[in-house]
Amino acid sequence: MDKMVMPETTAAQALGWVDDATKAISPAIHTSTTYVRDADNQYRSGRVYARDHNPSFDQAEAVLCELEKGSKAALFASGMAAATAVFMALKPGNHVIAPKVMYWSLRNWLANYATQWGLQVEFIDMSNLDELKRAVRLGKTRLVWVETPANPMWTITDIAAAAEIARAGGAMLAVDSTTASPVLTRPLTLGADIVMHSATKYLNGHSDVIAGALVAREDSDYWQRVKAVRAQIGGTLGPFEAWLLLRGMRTLFLRVSAACKSAQILAEFLQGHELVEEVLYPGLASFPGHEIAAKQMNNGFGGMLSIRVKGGEAAAIATAAHVDIWKRATSLGGVESLIEHRASVEGANTPVPFDLLRLSVDIENVDDLIDDLDQALMRGHRA
Ligand SMILES: *Cc1c(COP(=O)(O)O)cnc(C)c1O
Repeated sequence: MDKMVMPETTAAQALGWVDDATKAISPAIHTSTTYVRDADNQYRSGRVYARDHNPSFDQAEAVLCELEKGSKAALFASGMAAATAVFMALKPGNHVIAPKVMYWSLRNWLANYATQWGLQVEFIDMSNLDELKRAVRLGKTRLVWVETPANPMWTITDIAAAAEIARAGGAMLAVDSTTASPVLTRPLTLGADIVMHSATKYLNGHSDVIAGALVAREDSDYWQRVKAVRAQIGGTLGPFEAWLLLRGMRTLFLRVSAACKSAQILAEFLQGHELVEEVLYPGLASFPGHEIAAKQMNNGFGGMLSIRVKGGEAAAIATAAHVDIWKRATSLGGVESLIEHRASVEGANTPVPFDLLRLSVDIENVDDLIDDLDQALMRGHRA
């Protein structure tokens, strides 16, 4: 596309690329693992081996660059492969700051693996900017990691303010923007250096691909180290998965917009529910991070919310046991709505309350979702 267009159009047409050789609108899937060298020993195609260079990544990476307003993007085999590459491109001895409440698998990796590998990892309350200011060590802190809204309490961090604090301390800001997706927030335009997505979630959106992505504001030595981590450790996405991801992203705006609308309606319904202790959703005016969320999220507050069920852990688990339309499963951002007792997943050291159910509101009819959850709360309470 030569014209400047709105992001919905970019996503729907995947930048409007047409295959030169065939005029195909849907791209080919390149399965070749290797590429021919020129007779004079050069690789003018720019492609050597598919662990690093696969033409099946190009379009999806270009779409992500455009949606996030970045200059470089890389697909990874999973969100975890993308997130860990951000840290592994640093050096042993570097100090990094991460939130206490964040995607649990990455928190575990940071606490158990990254520390053994030599990173100094400090966990703080990332909704508290004064705490962040105190934690940044000039000349030592290389990276601040933010997740907003953060799993599974949907804690909000002010990205622009965190970016300023990180920069003043000589550190980069990386944002796990999986929950917001580029439909709602563009962290690079707010001052972040790197955006990470579990593309398994909203970007692909159909619960049928595990994938990850990073987008960088600019090319740099650091970005080249991130790319080297991908190529050398080998967390590369397969060509079929890259193709499915590109297809999924075409409907990203429709799916996220439907999920936001339904989540807002559901949150307001649940807030008045006699069997619900508390609703955690950034779209509610009573939610602590609401005003910052309103400032940095456009088009809605996301499809993710959590509820604390009256009657404690047993009532929460019994509620999840009685759903019919909602599916009891981990993950988020697919087409089918999911419910999960989060503390059971996170294990012994979880900061998550035991009465909490995490809801991924997706694209079904919202009245069906409300009725099903309402009857499950009542039956769960009686159980
Ligand atoms: C799922 C998820 C991840 C990890 O991504 P995978 O694709 O499962 O490896 C990281 N961050 C958030 C917020 C997630 O929801």
